[in-house]
Amino acid sequence: MHKSSTVLPTIGVRYCDGRSYPDGVAYMDNQYLPMSEAKVSVLDWGLLHSDATYDTVHVWEGRFFRLDLHLDRFFSGMERLRMKLTLSRAEIEEVLKNCVALSGHKSAYVEMICTRGTSPTFSRDPRQAENRFIAFAVPFGSVANKEQLERGLHVAVSETVRIPPKSIDPRIKNYHWLDLVKGLFDAYDSGAETALVLDSNGNVAEGPGFNVFIVKGGRLNTPEYGVLPGITRQTVFDLCGELGLQARASDVSREELRDADEIFITSTAGGIMPVTCVDKTQIADGKVGKVTRQLMDIYWQKHADPAWSTPVVSP
Ligand code: PLP
Repeated sequence: MHKSSTVLPTIGVRYCDGRSYPDGVAYMDNQYLPMSEAKVSVLDWGLLHSDATYDTVHVWEGRFFRLDLHLDRFFSGMERLRMKLTLSRAEIEEVLKNCVALSGHKSAYVEMICTRGTSPTFSRDPRQAENRFIAFAVPFGSVANKEQLERGLHVAVSETVRIPPKSIDPRIKNYHWLDLVKGLFDAYDSGAETALVLDSNGNVAEGPGFNVFIVKGGRLNTPEYGVLPGITRQTVFDLCGELGLQARASDVSREELRDADEIFITSTAGGIMPVTCVDKTQIADGKVGKVTRQLMDIYWQKHADPAWSTPVVSP
């Protein structure tokens, strides 16, 4: 258990109940709870109107990966949505560490959420709602399983258009996922494992919980318009800087996707994950590409580097 905590409640709660899945620990309404007991009011605007922002950071072998970048994005999302919490950034960091420490997970998927909350009078005025903070740590999960990481994912491009930036600012990480879920069903119907959806100009945008990169002639490109600026996407740019690879963010058409030498997707849930088949057509020779493999290796090496990661429990 984390000893140096300032916000840890009195002991006596059974933090992990070991019976529910996923097993983990949540923090809400000033207390730590087993996941199975972490429940939100049906009157919360987060549920009724998707009026919420969140961020997900992962812990790998006892260390958070790029926690500062995730906290920056979470706070900027709250500011753009005019949400305010009583907890400071340092206190939120402490809560996240406690959730992981109390869960006992060495590698975890850690979510921080701010919902608009509820108003004492069920008012329709969002200014009267009391914003709610929730955090939880559950076992690390990945978009791609072990087999898919080895042979590459099979992806289908859905005709579904991602909600445009003029409707919802994609820099605010949000739960507006009906387009992405529709894309997933389209993909399953066509025999693929996951989906990419389009932007409002017909170019490739992103997928359910991930960004996408293509590699062509040794150069990388990732969609710029209408996508969440993913932290893993940013990490790929940073790694390319170190490796001397050229990477840019600009439109990626469906044709460019199919003609790519390599494709990979990026997410906190799984890191850098290869794609070897799009719309039933294999990409290049159908094998995981050299650049993708190189980036995957260095990405995981960085998880032990103090410049890129922070320990859950201070030594
Ligand atoms: N795009 C969307 C819509 C997402 O929900 C996510 C992550 O959940 C991503 C991209 C990838 O972002 P990150 O690399 O920060 O996990």
